[in-house]
Amino acid sequence: MQLAPFSLGYRFYRGNLHGHSTLSDGARSPAEVVAAYKALGYDFTCLSDHLMQGLDIGAPGVPDSRSLCDERITTILSAELHCPGKKYDKRGLWHLVANGLPLDFPAPTADETGPELVRRAQAAGAYVSIAHPEWYGLTMDEALAVSHADAVEIYNHSCLIECDRAFGIAVADYLLNEGKRLHFNATDDSHMRLDDFGGGWVMVAAARNDPDLLVAALKAGHTYSSTGAEIHDLALDGDILRVRCSPAVSVAVAGPGEVSAVAMGPNLTYAEIDIARIRARQGYFRVTVIGNGGTRAWSNPYWFDQLA
Ligand SMILES: [Zn+2]
Ligand SMILES: [Zn+2]
Repeated sequence: MQLAPFSLGYRFYRGNLHGHSTLSDGARSPAEVVAAYKALGYDFTCLSDHLMQGLDIGAPGVPDSRSLCDERITTILSAELHCPGKKYDKRGLWHLVANGLPLDFPAPTADETGPELVRRAQAAGAYVSIAHPEWYGLTMDEALAVSHADAVEIYNHSCLIECDRAFGIAVADYLLNEGKRLHFNATDDSHMRLDDFGGGWVMVAAARNDPDLLVAALKAGHTYSSTGAEIHDLALDGDILRVRCSPAVSVAVAGPGEVSAVAMGPNLTYAEIDIARIRARQGYFRVTVIGNGGTRAWSNPYWFDQLA
């Protein structure tokens, strides 16, 4: 049985879900940001500028990027939402990336909580991610408090190159072990003062490169995340997981707790992996392709009860 999103018959669109412009603390104008992603061959990007009432680096509202779209690149209306109550942040703020916001989404206020802000953004139609958990020391209690978000940002490229705090996979696995159901994404969090763009992205399977369809696909988990490696197909027949991918040194399947299964390359472009031990633990599995050059691709989690 071929697994979604590979079973859908759609092409994949490459995009950045987290980046900043001069509307908040980014170095380049909105037009320059979109042009930079267009030059890299991206299909979509966003201006997820910082948004909170009274924030010194905050944008005045949800950035309107619609006039920057053309036949090659589109944008998703987005913002990085903030409100107080987060430990280990220099301003004591939550960071929650929302993609697919309405332009009139009211900026968060100082009396809103992180969990409330996630709900308000989702109610307004957005796909909400727990941003850079490793970078700002998200505690497990905090992760549980916002586990109704849609996704965990498991890779943040600017957090890699600036301080080697890029990853969110440990927090994501913790939430999955707790029975929470979230998807994954990889992003740049580009500010373009450094060469911090084009390092982490999502591949979204959709019928067209249209913002509404992209957001619907993100919410449905019809994506995989990448720093360069590619997942071309996933299929599960009985306990045998069949993976097609770009040339890999390792194709690893992880499940609840410590359980895993692996196929080793190098130059692996097809693997058949027995995941019976993972299925026996119930819950979920997820696939990581580690490319020959060390780049990665991560599938979203798959839950056995949803595949049955
Ligand atoms: Zn910033
Ligand atoms: Zn942030």
